Amino acid sequence: MATIIDGKAVARALQSEIKDEVEGLKRRWGMSPGLGVVLVGDDPASHLYVKNKEKACKEVGMRSEEHLLPASVSERELLALIQKLNRDRDIHGILVQLPLPAHISPEKVLLAVSPQKDIDGFHPVNQGMLLSGGEGFRPCTPMGIMKLLDSVECDLKGKNATVIGRSNIVGKPVALMLLERHATVTICHSRTANLKEEVGRADIVVAAIGKAALVRGDWIKSGAVVIDVGVNRLPTGKLSGDVEFEAAKERASYISPVPGGVGPMTIAMLLFNTLRAAKESLQREG
Ligand code: NAP
Repeated sequence: MATIIDGKAVARALQSEIKDEVEGLKRRWGMSPGLGVVLVGDDPASHLYVKNKEKACKEVGMRSEEHLLPASVSERELLALIQKLNRDRDIHGILVQLPLPAHISPEKVLLAVSPQKDIDGFHPVNQGMLLSGGEGFRPCTPMGIMKLLDSVECDLKGKNATVIGRSNIVGKPVALMLLERHATVTICHSRTANLKEEVGRADIVVAAIGKAALVRGDWIKSGAVVIDVGVNRLPTGKLSGDVEFEAAKERASYISPVPGGVGPMTIAMLLFNTLRAAKESLQREG
């Protein structure tokens, strides 16, 4: 029977360390890290995500500045706002909530964010840094997954890790981070020929698909560590992960739940990256 990985507790501990550091920055330098949040349109899920992120900022003593734009905003206006935030010395991190309306190119928008303020780690410069093992900002959800694995002292070296999903925000970056830590990584996707087999030989499974309980519990190798990234709303209104939780729990050594696993970590890592951006701006200013 698996031990449940308590993402809320791991996130809380990290946020408490961040809060201490933020207080230290205020005391010593009179500065408080600032996050610029850009939200376009009125998608309820995006509004909820942004609200949660802003609440977390406040809890650790950071400032957040919300820019709400109508869905009809032009790409040019949005790019102009990002340039303004890039120049704003009181804003250390910029978050553009995705998805954007169809008439706006997400590539252009993500490219416009200064890599030094790209606390989501989506800018091509930061993506390239991750690929080459550099020090750039890394995406929050994959960082949170790695922290969860570390929280249970999961030894990755030489282990088989199967990542299901190849998105730019979760699957690909987490696969690179696992590789960096010397796991032998397999990346699966919708065209993978035999998902059950790929999962069955994994010591570590990261499921980032977006399909409720697609990964069956009896596929999991005995003793494997399972990180479930998926967030799926069931017809009952309840949330479900991508892994058949109850059955997988019987076979895994550790498993992260949904909700209460990766989700809280994503927010904690966003705060971590914003704090880092603020500290690096102080260093640049000497
Ligand atoms: P995404 O961009 O839709 O990517 C989903 C991936 O799953 C794709 O690579 C897709 O393969 C693969 N896939 C789809 N059906 C499959 C199947 N039957 N077998 C194997 N692979 C399959 O999603 P995402 O943005 O990475 O997010 C994945 C999930 O994580 C979602 O539920 C999302 O809500 C959740 N999420 C949670 C957090 C958090 O903080 N908790 C953060 C980010 C995402 P193809 O590439 O071949 O299409």
